[in-house]
Amino acid sequence: MFVYADNAATTKMRKSALETYVSVAENFFGNPSSLHSAGQRAQEVLTDCRTRMAKALGAEPREITFTSGGSEADNQAIVSAARAGARKGKRKLISTAIEHHAVLHTLEKLKREGFEVVLLPVGTDGIVRLRDVEEAIDENTCLVSVMYANNEIGTLQPVEEIGALCKARGVLFHTDAVQAVGHLPIDVNKTGCDYLSLSAHKFGGPKGVGALYVRRGAPLSSLIEGGAQERGKRAGTEDLPAVAAMTVALEESLKESERAIPYVTALRDKLIGGLSKIPHCALNGHPAKRLAGNVSFCFEGIEGESILLLLDDKGICASSGSACTSGSLDPSHVLLAIGRVHDVAHGSLRLTLSAENTEEEIDYMLKEIPEVIETLRNMSPVWRDLKAGKRSFLL
Ligand SMILES: *Cc1c(COP(=O)(O)O)cnc(C)c1O
Repeated sequence: MFVYADNAATTKMRKSALETYVSVAENFFGNPSSLHSAGQRAQEVLTDCRTRMAKALGAEPREITFTSGGSEADNQAIVSAARAGARKGKRKLISTAIEHHAVLHTLEKLKREGFEVVLLPVGTDGIVRLRDVEEAIDENTCLVSVMYANNEIGTLQPVEEIGALCKARGVLFHTDAVQAVGHLPIDVNKTGCDYLSLSAHKFGGPKGVGALYVRRGAPLSSLIEGGAQERGKRAGTEDLPAVAAMTVALEESLKESERAIPYVTALRDKLIGGLSKIPHCALNGHPAKRLAGNVSFCFEGIEGESILLLLDDKGICASSGSACTSGSLDPSHVLLAIGRVHDVAHGSLRLTLSAENTEEEIDYMLKEIPEVIETLRNMSPVWRDLKAGKRSFLL
């Protein structure tokens, strides 16, 4: 059996998105900036996509800037707010300890340039406390950046409350909504954000394309210099086939979400219920305030990387945390932030489901995963010490 359970890393492209990609590449190959008819036809497709992407988010077309994906959108939002803040003498940036590296590394870069960066902690449930956000905001603050949903543990953050708080205090608010867009109904006005990042490949679109929503009037500076594309804020010939495929993928995801959310949630809860029976394990993140498809566990006495290899032998594609940290020996910053100690954080497993997964696949995983964990524990010196009482169980 082949089970793809790594949808937080990337999704398979939707058939309609793939077909749109090919058809736009074939029929609208002109450069949207060209004045001839081939260029103008491409420009019309681009305008149509921008209008539809805006509609899907409750935004205005001119508030949508197409980017190369979520990372670029995060970088551009944060850098734009920081540059504008610095011009007014506001050099404090507030975010959380569990953000994606596209946010954290941008903040680190700004810190080296002299900005003050405050990373708020989260509770053991993976949720940032509103009071902490409120207390951190002062007259020097130019931006609050809090993700909509975490990519490792799936936890949903109180973004609407944070948005309202930022608005009341006159501070710009960015949300990295890469894991949420296409999976939850999102309205930028309800969220109350000034910037929102999204990425097509997390909702059935192609890789290498995304968008940044920028509220009218919020500062936006360019990261890439060149031509006047995207109202002069993002140079480079637009990847029209990718933009069109992303638009179709988002519309279809949202149309299906009413059916997909309860279906995927039921699969998730069955998988969580079954895996919870394994001794000495713990679910990561809030049990209910989480993405419909996210299952994240820590198992004591094993190493995440070795589970992944054995699961792969069984045809199961899983992850230990985020695709970005796997391959490095450092435990996940997200798991450390929710209070998992190093040894426990190393034994993590993330399974992220989509509406393409079936109940048979869940049953298959519930049969194979406990066996793989038992095999690994039987080989582990740490597990032997735990069993012999030479060290004590943490979970
Ligand atoms: C995947 C992801 C990103 C990066 O998006 P790319 O399009 O791969 O650059 C940023 N933030 C979160 C939360 C993500 O899950």
